Amino acid sequence: LNMASSTIVDIDLKGLLPKVASGKVRDLFAIDDNTLLFVASDRISAYDVVMQNVRSYNSRSQQLILISLKGNSRKRRTAYSNEVYTNFPNYILFTPNAYSVYWFKYLQNRIPTLKTHFIKQSLPEDVESSLGDQSLLGSLQKRSMQVRRLQIVPVESIVRGYITGSGWAEYKKSGTVNGIKLPSGLLEGQQLPKPLWTPSTKAEAGAKDENISPEKARELIGDATVAKRIEELSLEIYTTAAKRAEEVGIILADTKFEFGLTSENEVVLVDEVLTPDSSRFWPKDTWEQNIGKQQPSFDKQYLRDWLVDQGLKGKEGVVIPENIAAQTAVKYGEAYQMLTGEKLHAA
Ligand code: ATP
Ligand code: MG
Repeated sequence: LNMASSTIVDIDLKGLLPKVASGKVRDLFAIDDNTLLFVASDRISAYDVVMQNVRSYNSRSQQLILISLKGNSRKRRTAYSNEVYTNFPNYILFTPNAYSVYWFKYLQNRIPTLKTHFIKQSLPEDVESSLGDQSLLGSLQKRSMQVRRLQIVPVESIVRGYITGSGWAEYKKSGTVNGIKLPSGLLEGQQLPKPLWTPSTKAEAGAKDENISPEKARELIGDATVAKRIEELSLEIYTTAAKRAEEVGIILADTKFEFGLTSENEVVLVDEVLTPDSSRFWPKDTWEQNIGKQQPSFDKQYLRDWLVDQGLKGKEGVVIPENIAAQTAVKYGEAYQMLTGEKLHAA
């Protein structure tokens, strides 16, 4: 998690709440000792690097504009924002918040023992009444959720139902995923015999998350009961969500969860959940014909593929062309509509 220093564009709450942290995508504000406001920005990251494109709120024109921070002459900014809004009126990258809210509610109904950090999707009342600026308020309402502030377990709890990405890369080399031996002859994109818990480290700002064996993750977590609960919950949440996604024609290939602990060591699902940032969503109808190849997807893969194509994987300071940014956003919106039956509108 990055402290303010490498934040590209700050979510502007006009100083109404203290900012406690700023991640690659989200800014966190303190409501009180036990409660945070979790706000999704338009920053987009891939391969652990934030792209140098952001949408920013221009308080003078009272509009959200897409800017490129590199070579951001006024002319270029204007061209950028006009084109995006003309051609891509639904250009939205803050969708992850809407997905999280949908899934927190869904999962809480399906898994009664599950505790989550989600409280509600809204701003605190005093912030709403003091903010003044109505269009900023409208945008912030869609981007925000109130959550319980917890101690974060220093492991990213990845679950894979299908073999792809870094799991596929390891398997090609050694026949294993996170050190777990798998049957030979699997093809890229194939379904695994059963979903696997394949944790990674939660690297400090600027560093890369590293896949680790389940044993290593248990060591990092420390408490054996907590570790077991995290592994079991991760698999249960994945299975529950994958089933729901399949009903609407989406394969949940893999996903990443984070967990927090209460002072009583109770395990709580935190962060964003089952969003296109943290998951791979594939259209089910084209999956089989694409086994052994790259799968089309409703997630950030579109952007990742472009970065790899351009030789820009993992490079700092990349400005993504607006068509790539917009197509990524369109994909985010499509899967949301399939899941919820609701269309997202740009704020
Ligand atoms: P990281 O690599 O640390 O996850 P990030 O760049 O992915 O950073 P973001 O996703 O932008 O960060 O911001 C969310 C941050 O908030 C994460 O560091 C996450 O661990 C943390 N977080 C999520 N839920 C909670 C919570 N309930 N209490 C405290 N911190 C939380
Ligand atoms: Mg994160």
